[in-house]
Amino acid sequence: MEKKQFQAESKRLLEMMINSIYTQKEIFLRELISNASDAIDKIYYKALTDPNIEFNKDDYYIKIIPDKENRTLTISDTGIGMTKEELDTNLGVIAKSGSLAFKTEHEAKDGHNIIGQFGVGFYSAFMVADTVTVISKALGSDEAYRWESSGVDGYIITPAEKEHVGTDIILKIKANTEEESYDEFLEEYRLRQIVKKYSDFIRYPIKMDVKVTKPKEGSENEFEEHVEEQTINSMVPIWRRNKNELTEEDYVNFYQEKRYGYDKPIKHIHISADGVVSYNAILFIPENIPFDYYTKDYEKGLELYSNGVLIMSKCGELLPDYFSFVKGMVDSEDLSLNISREMLQHDRQLNLIARNIKNKIKSALVSMLKDERDRYEKFYQAFGRQLKFGVYSDYGMNKDMLQDLLLFYSSKEKKLVTLDEYVSRMPEDQKYIYYATGESIERIDRMPQTELVKEKGYEILYFTEDIDEFAIKMLNKYKDKEFKNVSSGDLGIEADANDEQAKKAEAENKELFEYMKKVLADKVKAVKASTRLKSHPVCLSAEGEVSIEMEKVLSAMPN
Ligand code: ADP
Ligand code: MG
Repeated sequence: MEKKQFQAESKRLLEMMINSIYTQKEIFLRELISNASDAIDKIYYKALTDPNIEFNKDDYYIKIIPDKENRTLTISDTGIGMTKEELDTNLGVIAKSGSLAFKTEHEAKDGHNIIGQFGVGFYSAFMVADTVTVISKALGSDEAYRWESSGVDGYIITPAEKEHVGTDIILKIKANTEEESYDEFLEEYRLRQIVKKYSDFIRYPIKMDVKVTKPKEGSENEFEEHVEEQTINSMVPIWRRNKNELTEEDYVNFYQEKRYGYDKPIKHIHISADGVVSYNAILFIPENIPFDYYTKDYEKGLELYSNGVLIMSKCGELLPDYFSFVKGMVDSEDLSLNISREMLQHDRQLNLIARNIKNKIKSALVSMLKDERDRYEKFYQAFGRQLKFGVYSDYGMNKDMLQDLLLFYSSKEKKLVTLDEYVSRMPEDQKYIYYATGESIERIDRMPQTELVKEKGYEILYFTEDIDEFAIKMLNKYKDKEFKNVSSGDLGIEADANDEQAKKAEAENKELFEYMKKVLADKVKAVKASTRLKSHPVCLSAEGEVSIEMEKVLSAMPN
């Protein structure tokens, strides 16, 4: 029996690992399960080329065995196992990844499902365990070996007994301290929860013996406890399945299972991209506004998976703010992960995926607008405001992306219309896209300023939300047509003759106008005669960039 020392660097690294690389202890289970899955994958890839190896899927699984009495947690797999030398090099040298070597060796043969690459994940076991024992029998070997370590002190390798090829990892779970409890890692429900969170889409069954209560045979009100071996992961991720095989219900179930929301999604987007970056994504547009959506507590983001293993629960970089309502997940093989696999290196691939996703969301919305107007309007009721914020923010950088998704109430159609619909209906002599702002559609409809424009037969867009006019100012033009507030000085409608008439009226009533200005003092800038009014005696109009409504918003804003 020889006791070997970790190399000096390894010792330091191991301490770092145990104390600081991972933010959450529960990650150890993700790491050990990923290793087990890799070990099975290796047999699978070998079997592809070696006729002597048979790969019968039913023989391969991972099993989790908590033992409260002995305070151990065992993760057992029927994978390729490790020889004595492999135990020594793969587990004795930190940052040495046997899996990465395997991948490099088998690159040509489709080894890309293998998860391991950094050679550190295994040691995360020491976050929850005092002692880690590995008993392994390698494929094609008759001997089994035990590797045992209590952390920085080093490890011992001794011969062992093991019937089947594969590996058992036995963790002696730490005792509770005053600050930390470790009991949860021996609880069935908690283990199941962790597996569901990180490893639900591992492609081999993850099994656990579970206590279930069932009615006694032949009796309806007597119950018995059974122990039943259950598979706790779903294995085949819905996003890897063929779109044609999936029903609307499958997507809704997925949405609800993943708790993206408690409502039903109004639309799903299933992307399988195979290009510069390969990724799968399932995105959802929710039906209802999340209760905290328009507050600063709301956190945007998509779940991010690398090869079916959850890396981040909310990756904000994947969504622009104006599409922050989108829920769902992205899975890619092409991500550069950092060593803890909890974060990404900010890289090109992620940016490419984000850009791609943004465009897919836009086209999904555009086609919904075209083909399912009612549904789109429902969506717009909930999230239209966010789109308008999107037009306004970032100095209007996103206007091309968003302007065709906007809807406004039309004086003519008496319903929501797009800017494109408005412009395509404009009579030839109409210069501007007219809009009016106010508290409600009814109130805007009664505004004296709208009369002249309506009489000309022109359509007016009614803006009832604060953000509307700000967004439009940022657009400035749509299809070369400028926007014009019906309350502004120059509407581009009055004929020259009318102007003459107004000037004449003003001259004739000079004293009256001067008196009115004096009474109103600095409440108004000027009092003028107007030819715009039809059935109303007077109206307010604004000059310059800021309309009366915008002024109200601006002055209500805290400084
Ligand atoms: P990584 O998975 O990134 O390679 P780990 O520290 O998780 O790094 O594991 C180190 C190496 O130990 C793996 O690359 C693999 O060669 C070996 N290994 C770990 N767990 C197992 C297992 N259950 N079966 C076979 N080999 C394993
Ligand atoms: Mg690993």
